[in-house]
Parts: sequence; C-alpha cells; structure tokens
Amino acid sequence: MKAIKIEEPKVCPFCGAPVVRILDDGAHLYCSNPDCSERKLAKLNYFVTKECMNIDGLSQKTLKKLIDNLHISDWSDLYTLTYDDFIAGGCGKKTALKLVDEIAKSRTEVPAERVLMSLGIPMVGKVTAKELLEKYGSFAEIERVAKSNDFAEIPDYIGNEVGKNILKYFRLNENKDLQNVYKYLQTTYVKSSPTVSNNKLAGLTLMATGTLTNFSRDGIKDSVVENGGTYASGISKKLDYLIVGDKAGSSKLKKAEELGIKQLTETEYLNLIK
Ligand SMILES: [Zn+2]
Repeated sequence: MKAIKIEEPKVCPFCGAPVVRILDDGAHLYCSNPDCSERKLAKLNYFVTKECMNIDGLSQKTLKKLIDNLHISDWSDLYTLTYDDFIAGGCGKKTALKLVDEIAKSRTEVPAERVLMSLGIPMVGKVTAKELLEKYGSFAEIERVAKSNDFAEIPDYIGNEVGKNILKYFRLNENKDLQNVYKYLQTTYVKSSPTVSNNKLAGLTLMATGTLTNFSRDGIKDSVVENGGTYASGISKKLDYLIVGDKAGSSKLKKAEELGIKQLTETEYLNLIK
C-alpha cells in the first residue's frame, strides 16, 4: 500500500494567521492568533460542554454572539457577565436568566477533575486530569509543581512527556488559568478514598451548611470522613450534628430545629475532632 502524505496546514483556515505547535505533542496544531474568533469559539465551546463545565444554554450560536458583541475571549470572562450583559450581548430575557443560573451553578457543582479537563490543556482529558489530581491533591499543589523545575515529581503513569507538557502549559500561561480557577470557581478535589485518621466521629452523621472558615464545601466532607463519621446529603432524623457556617440557609436551620438536631459552630466542630 502506498502511503499518502497529507500536507499540514500552514495557516489558520479562519483568520489566516500561521498555525503553531504550542507544545511538543506532535499532532496538535493551533492557530497562533490569540484574537482569532474561531479559536476563542472552539475553546469556549469545549469549556461549556456537558462533559466539561456543563453550562446548558450556551450554544455555539450564543457563544458567537457573546464573542462578537461583548468581546469575551476567555472562559473566565463568562463568570463576569451579568443578566444585563447577556441582554446586551443579544440574548433573550429567558436565555439570559437561564445563563446567569447555569453559570452560577457551574461555579460550585463541577468536580475538580472536570474543571481541570475543561481548561483545554492539550492531552489532558478526563483520565489524565483525574490522575493529576489524585497525585497532587489540589490545584494549588499542581501550581507549585508547575512553578518548580523538578520534573522528577511527575509519576510514571502520567508519562514524562505528557507531564512535561502539562507543566509547561501552566508556566507558559503564567498560571493565569489556575488563578482564574481560584478566583471564579469553588472546587476541591476529593480523593477517591479518604483515609480515616481517627475515630472521633465514629457512629455519628454530620452535615454542614453555610460558609465555613477552615473548610471548603468538599473539605468539610473529607474532614468528617477522615475522622470516622458519615457525611449526610440532606437534613433528616438520621443527622446527629449540623455544622452551621456563615450565611446558612434559614430553611435548613428551621428544618433541623424542628427535628431537634444539635447544631455546632465551626469552632465546636473543630473541638470535637481535636
Ligand atoms: Zn485563526
């Protein structure tokens, strides 16, 4: 069989700018023009998909309108848009309302590995994103390793070349994506099986509501499990303690009171696991 040689495109078919290989991953070519609206559209379109941030209502057509009318260029721009912005961007009232809602939901509800995957780092799909977080535990730790020059820290199962490219990506973009993750998203990686460090909460079921000072939403779950307790998904008679943080929802508190569930402040919880 005769091999057919395919010519690589030298310029972006949309804006005519030269294409480049940003990273040494061989097969992937990118438009070199950061202002190329097709490049922006492709990145944003990937970011909002169901597999990634799952922002329903941002069709390719709507994204294009927002890029053209509001000059958004990066995923983080989505998190700065208000209802009025969406209207100004050409969305109808119903869509604008839905988008405000959907984007707010994506801030807190998307698991960390999907957030990492959504950034569109070449070669970082679902599996690699999960492996990276499983290894480093948090975005902050990935940032630390990316800033260091110690590639020896990259585990074999991720692969040295893939690993190098990932770290290079974060360095080249000066960790802008990571800073935006901290700024706009509330996400904490929960390791597949937290190890129980003590049994202070053995036999107890707890849940937290509101904002805590020492724990993120997932962090408090980890802490309860690590101390041998069970973390509840809702308020019921099975609950032993409700940890009450700042701005706790009044309906939850009312329900807990009606059921006679003991409430703890964050300090009381910390004393309980000390
Ligand atoms: Zn282009």
